[in-house]
Amino acid sequence: MIKLHDLYFKPFISEKEIDTAVQTMVDGIAADLGDEVPVFIGILNGSFMLVSDFVKKYPKPCEVTFIKLASYEGVKSTEDIQRLIGLTQDLTGRTVVILEDIIDSGNTLEEVHRIFKNENVKQLIIATLFYKPEAYNKDFKLHYVGMEIPNKFIVGYGLDYNGLGRDLPDVYQLKTTQHMTNIVLFGPPGAGKGTQANFLKEKYDLIHISTGDVFRFNIKNETALGMLAKSFMDKGELVPDQVTIDMLSKEVEKNAGANGFIFDGFPRTNAQAKALDELMENKDSQINAMVALEVDDEVLVERLLERGKTSGRTDDSDENIIRNRIKQYYTKTAILKDYYADQNKYFGVDGVGSIEDITVRLGTVLDKL
Ligand code: AMP
Repeated sequence: MIKLHDLYFKPFISEKEIDTAVQTMVDGIAADLGDEVPVFIGILNGSFMLVSDFVKKYPKPCEVTFIKLASYEGVKSTEDIQRLIGLTQDLTGRTVVILEDIIDSGNTLEEVHRIFKNENVKQLIIATLFYKPEAYNKDFKLHYVGMEIPNKFIVGYGLDYNGLGRDLPDVYQLKTTQHMTNIVLFGPPGAGKGTQANFLKEKYDLIHISTGDVFRFNIKNETALGMLAKSFMDKGELVPDQVTIDMLSKEVEKNAGANGFIFDGFPRTNAQAKALDELMENKDSQINAMVALEVDDEVLVERLLERGKTSGRTDDSDENIIRNRIKQYYTKTAILKDYYADQNKYFGVDGVGSIEDITVRLGTVLDKL
């Protein structure tokens, strides 16, 4: 992922794929033109890289020149095309091949046709590396197209976003979701995830999703989901993956414009971790870190029994159920440490101490993300 000015872009078309597309264009044009000596005309600024690579590959004698037109402002193609450098040579009777980096609306191409209307060239051939069929709204024939692409804003290989990105050898696509910070707050029941999440969500302007809280809300409101979850929760068992994953996706969707999420109590299984990765990927985002509160079992049991006196949670008041929840954590959930550690995303934090001290420890990790 790269950042240009205020926007984030993700890899889209590799240097190698571009090279293959350029070669195909060269082969097609060279075969069709035979011994004709063409004048290749690049449209500046965007086409400088294409023209350079193209003519290096062109197997026969040719001429190269440029005209300079400007159409883009920010990420939107404008109607208003400015002629910055026009034609500087007589092209009467010549075969002219326009080399464009990209054709989207076709406004620039219309201007090109206007420029050549009275030049008396033998033929005007249009060749473009990238072509966005969904955006093109003109009738001019495109003789050679390197690659058709969807209607996405792209940068790299000559194409820019407000001046930046032209130098990149690969092509990148604008991310639909901009930068998010997504954290999995991890730890056994009673580690203090809920308490800490309340501080962190304020400090970093994140949405806190606690799957346990969402289930309890549904139980309180006697929804179908609540009734289903209750039978598992009462025993300290995990609610089935698909039920939990569907519920979590809905919670994420409810907050489409969020700066990021703190996931608390999710994922608890490998299947949930994979589903979360997919969910983030669909949002053009990712999990940045798993931050784990590490606390001894006996401290946990003590804390949960204490909390049970006031929380009203049935699963907090019975020591056997508490121990089962901790056991579930170690048998089903703790393996997720490896899942995130393998991606260098695991950060363990000592969860014993005052609430303030632990918040400071977590903040130290989050500030570095
Ligand atoms: P918690 O409030 O996170 O301790 O969760 C309380 C209970 O809700 C758990 O013991 C499970 O029964 C259920 N639960 C919460 N999150 C999940 C999850 N990600 N997967 C399965 N069950 C969950």
